[in-house]
Amino acid sequence: MSAHAAGPHDTDWTTPAETSHFRTTPSYAQTLAYLERLQQAAPGKIKLETFGITPRGRPMTVVIASSDGTFTPEAARAAHKPIVLLQAGIHPGEIEGKDAGLMLLRDIAVTDKYPHLLDRVVLVYIPVFSVDGHENSSPYNRINQNGPERMGFRAQSQYLNLNRDYIKADAPEMQAWLKLWQKWLPDFLIDVHTTDGADYQYDLTWYTEDPHKLDPAIDAWQHKTIVDEAMPAYEKHGHLASIYLEFKDGRDPRKGIENFGSGPRFSTGYAALQNRPALLIETHMLKSYAVRVYAVYDLVHLLLEDIDRDPGALLAATAKADADTIARAQDPTARVPLTFKLDPVPTPYELKGYAFTQTHSEISNDIWIQYDPTRPQTYRIDNWNKLLPDLSITPPAAYVVPGEWTSIIQKLDEHGIAYRRIGHPMKQVDATAYRLDDPQWASKPFEGRLMLRSFTLRAVPTEVTLPAGSVIVPMNQRAANVAIALLEPQAPDSLLRWGFLNAIFETKEYGEPRVLEKLARDMLAKDPKLKTEFEQKLHDDPAFAADSRARLAFFFERSPWYTVQNVGAYPVLRLDAAQLGILGTK
Ligand SMILES: [Zn+2]
Repeated sequence: MSAHAAGPHDTDWTTPAETSHFRTTPSYAQTLAYLERLQQAAPGKIKLETFGITPRGRPMTVVIASSDGTFTPEAARAAHKPIVLLQAGIHPGEIEGKDAGLMLLRDIAVTDKYPHLLDRVVLVYIPVFSVDGHENSSPYNRINQNGPERMGFRAQSQYLNLNRDYIKADAPEMQAWLKLWQKWLPDFLIDVHTTDGADYQYDLTWYTEDPHKLDPAIDAWQHKTIVDEAMPAYEKHGHLASIYLEFKDGRDPRKGIENFGSGPRFSTGYAALQNRPALLIETHMLKSYAVRVYAVYDLVHLLLEDIDRDPGALLAATAKADADTIARAQDPTARVPLTFKLDPVPTPYELKGYAFTQTHSEISNDIWIQYDPTRPQTYRIDNWNKLLPDLSITPPAAYVVPGEWTSIIQKLDEHGIAYRRIGHPMKQVDATAYRLDDPQWASKPFEGRLMLRSFTLRAVPTEVTLPAGSVIVPMNQRAANVAIALLEPQAPDSLLRWGFLNAIFETKEYGEPRVLEKLARDMLAKDPKLKTEFEQKLHDDPAFAADSRARLAFFFERSPWYTVQNVGAYPVLRLDAAQLGILGTK
């Protein structure tokens, strides 16, 4: 399909998807060609920039759009204009956001449909985030989805899912995104997807993070803007929208919906750590591509209209959230939740679904649900979307990362975390260390990594000498919650959990059995209590008793030959306010 090979003086602004009547979606080259035409036609309103290069060497393009040529973050801030980051194609098979974005930019910049939409807000628009995935196009990339004819692949070219990569940032695309994020520090993120799952009437579902994951100012702005204003207006436009629908049992929607989990690895979860509101849009995969593109077009238009009407409210919310996080460092009673659980008390929800049948399948030997989209039906179901904090910690005043842990410091840099390096050794510093035991890894890789599934942890007060080059990460910074998510071992997407620190669990020197035989005898002779303990374990633990290596290891692990190896010592230390204060004066 060749949409418009015409030059900048062509007056036909039909987008490639519109030209095909939404049968197809344009290639990246066609997408960029259309955007370049827009830029040539309206250079005072549209500016294209490259913000990264994909692993396959393709440019990552971002469009800056504004009524009056406010094209830099500095200019946006000087003009008190909030910055909205709209991203499409993080999952490039789910590409409505790209085609809706082209139409919306056209209607802002050249057709005069919405000439004032960006008077008081700056739009930063990524038409395709996962460019390599987008170009890996096939009719078979989305089995659950109704068109377009061909679509991109979920992972980028290194088989990484960018919407699980926000914290670990393994993908070059994510590293480029993080730089873009820090450059613009957007006030609001909109991330556009297509859902999988059940059939129902809604053409779009949406998700925002639970209030417990957000600063109250962010939660209040989201609620007012999305729930109170944009969604009612959206339904007046003829759309049916719902909160995100994660069914407890895909075989029976009557059993209710629950929170899908999210977390720091996801776009909205990451924005929450950054004190920014974020909206996940999921168009419904079974609606026609035209319906899905217009669903995104209309919602983004209404959101921008809303923000343009009251830009100060958004700026005030993000400023307040940042100030709250910085001020929290002065509060010794502050707690930060790391993990969340479902609130056991559901709320009622009215699901606009379809009638369905459930038959026993001889193929799966399970229930086969089949929806009848000609028979709309409303169900009163339970909604378990509300979360409660599960595991919470008291944040330190600062973390200390040893200078040799360059892989950790590199992640701090990628996330724009502020820190300072000490120039000379500091002696007799009281810190809190973590000792980690019983590590268990996942049995299969996830996103290219073997995650640390579980471990035990205890905090150990310790007096240390911090060598020159140690990195002090203070918590009185606006991105403190990102640092906590990276460095606190029990955080669900901590660097420890993603496997960045697996080496700390390895022994580097072992004892030869013939040597340990002697060591064991020497230890038993000196320590009658150890003898009792050993005999008890032989009695209580038949697997241990049957494992001659484990029996020798029992002694090795209680000897200085082992403890000197410091197995399980988490290298990142915590400092409290008094310790940090002393450090500041040294
Ligand atoms: Zn998706």
